[in-house]
Parts: sequence; C-alpha cells; structure tokens
Amino acid sequence: MASKLDFMRFPAPDGVNGWWESMPPAAPARSVTGEARFDFVVVGGGITGLCAARRLAELAPDASIALVEADRIGRSTAGRNSGFFVDLPHDISSESYSRSVEADKADVRLQRHGIGYVRDTVKANGIDCDWRDDGKYHASVNKKGHAALTHFADGLARIDEPCEWLDESAIASVTGTRFYQSALFTPGCSTVQPAALMRGLAATQPSNVMVFELSAVKGMETRGPTKRLNFANGAIEAKRVVLCTNAYAATFGGHPNGLLPVYTFASMSRVMTDNEIARLGGMNSWALIPADPMGTTVRRLATNRICVRNHFAFRPNLSVSDGDLAKAKHLHQRSFDRRFPMLDEVELQHTWGGALCLSANNGALFGQREDGVFEAVGCNGLGLSRGSAAGKLIAEHALGQSNELIDQLLKQPHPRSLPMRPIADVAVSAAIWMKEFSAGAEL
Ligand SMILES: Cc1cc2nc3c(=O)[nH]c(=O)nc-3n(C[C@H](O)[C@H](O)[C@H](O)COP(=O)(O)OP(=O)(O)OC[C@H]3O[C@@H](n4cnc5c(N)ncnc54)[C@H](O)[C@@H]3O)c2cc1C
Repeated sequence: MASKLDFMRFPAPDGVNGWWESMPPAAPARSVTGEARFDFVVVGGGITGLCAARRLAELAPDASIALVEADRIGRSTAGRNSGFFVDLPHDISSESYSRSVEADKADVRLQRHGIGYVRDTVKANGIDCDWRDDGKYHASVNKKGHAALTHFADGLARIDEPCEWLDESAIASVTGTRFYQSALFTPGCSTVQPAALMRGLAATQPSNVMVFELSAVKGMETRGPTKRLNFANGAIEAKRVVLCTNAYAATFGGHPNGLLPVYTFASMSRVMTDNEIARLGGMNSWALIPADPMGTTVRRLATNRICVRNHFAFRPNLSVSDGDLAKAKHLHQRSFDRRFPMLDEVELQHTWGGALCLSANNGALFGQREDGVFEAVGCNGLGLSRGSAAGKLIAEHALGQSNELIDQLLKQPHPRSLPMRPIADVAVSAAIWMKEFSAGAEL
C-alpha cells in the first residue's frame, strides 16, 4: 500500500552555537545528491540517530546504513545543549525532578544504559569531547530551593541512590561564588562538550554507515516494501527507516501529535583571562543544575569559559526570532552577573536556542510506526542519556531483538494530545511563564 509522510519543519540557525564555534572548522560535508539505495536510513544526526546508526551497524555488519542530517552534525540541537548525561530522575515538569519510586528506578536503569553505551564508544574510539565522570551539583539559592533539594534527596534515598550535602561555603569552594546556599552532589552524572561528542560519534561510525549532512528529508513515500526519501538534490531508497528527528517530528504529516517543541537557550562567555580566573577561584571544571527545574544551569568549563542556560519558550514553528535570542541573552547576562559579580568584564560571547521535545505527560514515541518505519522521538528534556538509550534500543528493536529495556520503552505512554492551536499556544506558554515566575531567585 502506498503512503506518504511530509516533513513540515526544518532546523533553522537559532543563534550561534558556542560549542560549535569553539571547535576547529568541520571537514566538508557529504550531502545527498542523485539516487542511492541502502538497507536502512536513519533520519536525524542528533544523539538518538547517531546511536541508532551505530547500533544497527554493530548488529548488522553486512547491512548498508545511511545517516542523514539536515544541518551539520554537532551544530544542531544535540550539539547545542549543556552537556549533562543525567543518570538520575530528572522530570523537569515536576517541582523537584522526581516521580514515583518505580518510575524513578526505571528512568535510572534506562539512562545509565544509554550513558554506558556512549561512554564505551567514546573510550573505544578515543573521541576528544572532554568526557567527564565528575558528577553534578544541584544547588539552591534560598529556603524554597533547599526544600526542593531535600525532597529530591528523599526521593534518591527511596531508590538507594547516594548523594552528598554541601553547605554554603563548601559549594562556594567548588564554584567560586557565594551565590548558592546549599547543594546536593550526585556522583553518577557525566558531562561533555556536546558538539565535539556529536562530531566524534559521526566521524567514528562503523564502516557500513555513510553519513550525509546538510541533507534534509523533505518527504517519504512508501511503495510496497520500499521507502523513498526525497531530498532537495536527490533521493534515497531503503528497506527500513528509523526516524530520530525529535522535536521536528511534532508536525509530521501536518498533524499535531502531542509533541511540544519547547525552546531553551544558552550563552557561553568568552575565555577568561588569568586574572579573572584567579578572581573567580573554585574548581576549574564543574557542572551545576538549579534546585528548581526552571532555574539556571551553569557549567564552568576547563577551557575557562562559563556556560549558562535558562528560559523556555514554546515555539511550534521550530524557530526563534531575534527578539527571543535578545531576551535570552538579557536573562543570561542577569543570571551571570548575579552569580559572578567578580567577573563584571566577562561578556557572553555566543547565545543560542534549541528545541526540546516535551509532552504534557512525559510521553514519547518509540517503536514501529508503520511497516518498516521505526521511530525514537521525544526527549522530554533529557535527550543525552535517554536519546542514547532510545537510539541504541530502537536499532535492536528494528532488528527483531527484545529485552527488558525495549519493553520499558514500548510501554511508555504516547504523548498526550493537546487542544488545537491557538488554545494550545496560550496554555503551554502560560504554564511555562508561571513555572518560570515561580522559579524566581533560582533564575
Ligand atoms: C540549550 C539546551 C540545553 C540542553 N541541555 C541538556 C543537557 O544538559 N542534557 C540533556 O540530556 N539534554 C539537554 N538538552 C536537550 C537535548 O539537546 C536534546 O534532548 C537532544 O538533542 C535530543 O537528541 P535527539 O537526537 O533525540 O534529537 P535532536 O538533537 O533534536 O536531533 C534531531 C536531528 O534531526 C535533524 N532533522 C530534523 N528534521 C530533519 C529532516 N527532515 N531531515 C534530516 N534531519 C532532520 C535535526 O537537524 C537534528 O539534528 C538541552 C537542549 C538545549 C537546547
């Protein structure tokens, strides 16, 4: 039976990705031109697609696999994030990241599976991406934040996960700033330079994977057992397709499906001088998330830059305006100045946004969408660890394997559908505004 899937939204520049800019120029991209045939096509070169393509290649070494990415790999969302591979519960729609004991345990199992896969890949291939297994700090700025951390610590105790409290001076000796009142250290989080990781994962794909960049799929037609993917300058035919396009799947076929493209924004400072580094003090690399999920994430990088992330905006058209970026930069500068008054001459060099793929019920899409078409979509804000796992596992599922984690993903709820636009726009934007307002000082 013939069927058709139109891809309605495509990646836009959305500011200047500081991680990408601080790397050496990328090698020229290979794009799709003319006609080609593969056994598998993986669509989307984020963390999910990179893991899916690799796993397919590992398990089916005789299969030919194309990995197609609309932008450059490492420049789009998976290379735009704050670089936290979070192992613990991290429900950003809750007040304190936790859910039920059972859900939290299942999340941890899945996320560690993903982290382990990528960590092993990084080590085996010598990928230079500043991979660190140094843990993360959850920090609070006031009593309300401390109460949220206490709630989070209780949740961790219930699932037998260790954490360590730091008082005001202990967290100051890590960060150099006295902005935070208390913190919880959790040891299992890994951090990376995300653009370097994505580029490294693409460059070290097994030899039966061919990577195409600057190649947006415009549409897919199914004719019997064959899928035909159309690009601006060519087409690929394949037996099976794996869709890993995250937020860009929110309008697949023009129909809303409950996936919510919500942007968040980050800025990176210029490199600090020796004098500024001395004035700041603290450790030369640390990673901190706010007690309130809507607050400000901060990383001090070993390259002597500081990266801050905050602010969310519902952008169903999957692009942000200059006004969005200017607002984000303003908020980032304010957050930076409040935390680092000793760095008053350090300007934020790059500001950018990227699309998360949220849903009202933390649901996601995983499994077979139609005959021969698989999907792993819906990061719910935690794409690095969950996307790694979902990418690896969708490849295993597409090759007929089954295991407990695949079952876990197959059983997760689908994204809950929303009211039609513009009601959905108003409802989602109002919910974000209220949560940001309530985060208050944590911003
Ligand atoms: C500022 C910021 C900070 C964040 N911090 C963190 C963090 O610290 N930890 C964390 O886990 N997550 C974080 N995230 C979220 C994380 O980046 C995402 O969850 C992650 O990128 C999802 O990975 P993915 O591969 O599923 O999707 P994506 O990274 O979105 O990859 C999908 C890819 O599909 C491509 N694509 C789309 N349409 C097409 C098409 N038609 N043809 C070809 N290719 C197409 C896109 O260009 C994109 O590269 C952050 C996000 C942002 C923006």
